[in-house]
Amino acid sequence: MKKNSTSYIMPTYGDRDLTFERGRGCYLFTPSGEKYLDFAGGIAVNSLGHCHPKLVSVLKKQSEKLWHTSNLYKNKNQELYAKELCENTFANRVFFTNSGAEAIECGLKVIKSYWNLKNKNKKNIITFKGAFHGRTFAALSAQKNKKYSDGFTPLLSGFKNIPFNDEESLIKNINKETAAILIEPIQGEGGIKPAQLKFLKFVRNICDKNNILLFLDEVQSGFGRSGKLYSYEWAKIKPDILATAKGIGSGFPLGACLATKEASIGMTQGIHGSTYGGNPLGISVGREVLKIISDKNFLKKVDFISRYLWKNLKKIQSSYNNIVEIRGAGLLLGIKIKQNNVMVSNILKKNRLLTVPAEDNVIRLAPPLIINKKHADEALTIINKTFKNLK
Ligand SMILES: *Cc1c(COP(=O)(O)O)cnc(C)c1O
Repeated sequence: MKKNSTSYIMPTYGDRDLTFERGRGCYLFTPSGEKYLDFAGGIAVNSLGHCHPKLVSVLKKQSEKLWHTSNLYKNKNQELYAKELCENTFANRVFFTNSGAEAIECGLKVIKSYWNLKNKNKKNIITFKGAFHGRTFAALSAQKNKKYSDGFTPLLSGFKNIPFNDEESLIKNINKETAAILIEPIQGEGGIKPAQLKFLKFVRNICDKNNILLFLDEVQSGFGRSGKLYSYEWAKIKPDILATAKGIGSGFPLGACLATKEASIGMTQGIHGSTYGGNPLGISVGREVLKIISDKNFLKKVDFISRYLWKNLKKIQSSYNNIVEIRGAGLLLGIKIKQNNVMVSNILKKNRLLTVPAEDNVIRLAPPLIINKKHADEALTIINKTFKNLK
């Protein structure tokens, strides 16, 4: 209550010392014109950087035509966008949201309504330690992480939180009442921990054998971030349900719950709704982002630059024993260090490189997917200099 007492904003984010006035591509500028290289990407959101000319153009155009009608009326572009998302993924049905947590909420309703319709007493959803699914009550209940849920009891029942990447524990915890498994293919907030591809295949297999729905949370790992449109493609599996947000709108608040036709049979008229979800402004941006990112050459470039970044981060790691591990996939990378990650992230910030701390003492890099070698080299130079000067 000290420093923030002049602010009318609830102090849930603590003190914030930095203001940005303008963004262009991979850079952010303060009011006095200081330039920062943005490897935080608005927490893996600004997939096409800041003020991408094509996104500015479609948003401007749509803003002069129509902003909002609600979902009481049919929207041709919404239909087209849903079709385009399905053509690029495992899915055949879409529900539009404004955020990641809402996409998770929707996915949980897909699961509940499915088993309700099937008249099966399947009421437990398996989730994993270290998971992050958002800040709503269902998300807090699912991830069972005290850091987020302390003081918010009672949480919803019906979630079983078990060790990540652990096949034996998964087998032990499956039973007739298991309705679904909810997993992030790459844990983001939890410290950039990828699920082993073998484990994801194992999970898919368990689901098939035991009549269980597989619900992937790709809010952070999705939309090109891993070098594929969705990171499940690396494991060569398909989910039944998927939550997507963050990078999908490149900064416009947008999310979606994707599902197969079968998994979404319970989502009938009146079951769920959203006033803003699939709003014309969001749809216009979303369609353009998808068009750009789903291009094979775009994703090839992401894959190339992420391998370049990875290789050179490993080189830096070998010079400093403060760095414990480089991990992650694509352009969602974690530097696990011995010193306090928040402290080091702040020094990187002073050196004009934005990063985001994650749990497990990790510095997270989630730059725009449009970075080139020049941006990567600039970041690597700052990271190298920062570790060189660390005591
Ligand atoms: C950020 C995030 C969410 C929540 O998204 P919001 O848009 O903040 O509600 C859910 N799951 C994962 C994996 C995330 O990274």
